[in-house]
Amino acid sequence: MRKDGIFIAVEVDDNAAADTELARRLTEACPVDIFAQGGDGALEIVEQNLDECVLCRLCLDAAPDGVVRIIKLYDQGAVLA
Ligand code: SF4
Repeated sequence: MRKDGIFIAVEVDDNAAADTELARRLTEACPVDIFAQGGDGALEIVEQNLDECVLCRLCLDAAPDGVVRIIKLYDQGAVLA
C-alpha cells in the first residue's frame, strides 16, 4: 500500500501490512501518528498526517528491512535510508 502527501509518501509491503503485530509496532513507533490499525488490526496509513513526518526512522527500525519506505517527494523521490 502507498499513500502520498505533498512532501512525503509512505509505502508498506502489502503482506506486512496485514500482520497485526507489525501494525501494532508501527502504530506505537511513529511520533506523529502516520500509522494506525483498522478494525481488523491491519495497518492503515493516515493520509492527513503524512506531511508531519519528522524523518526519525523509528518506523524503519520497527519493521523488517525493506517493508516500510519513506519517500521524500520534496527531494525527487529520495528514499529515507
Ligand atoms: S520516519 Fe518517523 S515520523 Fe516518519 S513515518 Fe517513520 S516513524 Fe513516523
